[in-house]
Amino acid sequence: MDAAALQARITAIAATVCDEDPRTTAQRRADACGAIGRWETSLACQCPDTQCPNRSVRDGAAQIVIHLLAEQSTLTSSSTAPGYLPGFGVQPAETVRSAARGAKLTPVRLPATAPEPGYRASAPLTDFLRWRDLTCRWPGCDAPVARCDLDHTQPWPVGLTHPSGLKHYCRAHHLIKTFYTGPLGWTDHQRPDGTIIVTAPTGHTYTTDATGGLLFPTLARPTAPLTTSTGAGPTASPHRGAMMPKRRTTRDQDRRARIDRERRHRLDINAEHERQHQAWLAATYQPPPF
Ligand SMILES: [Zn+2]
Ligand SMILES: [Zn+2]
Repeated sequence: MDAAALQARITAIAATVCDEDPRTTAQRRADACGAIGRWETSLACQCPDTQCPNRSVRDGAAQIVIHLLAEQSTLTSSSTAPGYLPGFGVQPAETVRSAARGAKLTPVRLPATAPEPGYRASAPLTDFLRWRDLTCRWPGCDAPVARCDLDHTQPWPVGLTHPSGLKHYCRAHHLIKTFYTGPLGWTDHQRPDGTIIVTAPTGHTYTTDATGGLLFPTLARPTAPLTTSTGAGPTASPHRGAMMPKRRTTRDQDRRARIDRERRHRLDINAEHERQHQAWLAATYQPPPF
C-alpha cells in the first residue's frame, strides 16, 4: 500500500512538466524523488519556452535542513573547489552553488586560541570539530561524527577543552582508548593541525589526518598549541590500568531473570488478592446451604 502511494506520488510529480521537457520519463521520475524529499509538489519544467508556467517549482510545504560544507569561493565565484555533504560525500562545485541558492549560509568559525573553561565544548567549537574531523579519528574507522563522541586526547582537566586536544572517536574506539590504555594498551597523541597518532600495544604507530582538513585545508590550519602547566602526562588518567567492565551475565540472561522475577511477583499479588476475596466472601455471606 505504501509502495503504491509512493509510486502514485512520483508519477503525479513527474507529470507536472510539459512534453517539451528534455528529460525522459525515467529521469523525471528520478527527479520527482528529490522533489518529494524537499516537500515540493511539482518539478521545474526545463522546456525551452521561457514563458512556460511550469518553470517554477510549487513551494515546499516546509523547510528542510541539509548541512553542506563548502569554501566561500565555491559559493561566490566560479571556483571548482568541491563541497561535502555528510553521508553522501564530495559534491561538485556546481551542485553546491545550486543547493546554496536560497539556502541559509552559516560560516564555520575557526575556534579561539584560548582553551574553554568547562569539560563540554561550546557549540561553535563542537561545530568546528565536527567539520574538521567528519569521521571517527581512529585509524581506518569511517564512522561519521554524528555517531561519535568528543574525546579529550589527554583526559580532562589535565587535557584542556581546546581544538588542539579534542577529536571524535566512535563509541567502540572511545571505549578502547579509555579502558585499554597505559603501557600495555593503546595511546594517542594529537597535533594542533588535528593529526592523530595512535600507538598500538605492539608499538606500531598509525597517523590519521582529519578528513575535513584534507578536503578543506582551512580546517587543518594548526589551532593554537596546547601547553599543559602541570606536566602530568597521560599517567594521571584515573582509568590507567582499569579494564573495560565485563558483564557477568548475558543481556539475554538478565532479561529472562527480570521476566521470571516479574512473573513471580504477579503470582504473589494474584494469590494475595484471591485470599482477601475469599476472606471477604466468608465474612459477608453465610456458607452456601448445601
Ligand atoms: Zn515547459
Ligand atoms: Zn571508530
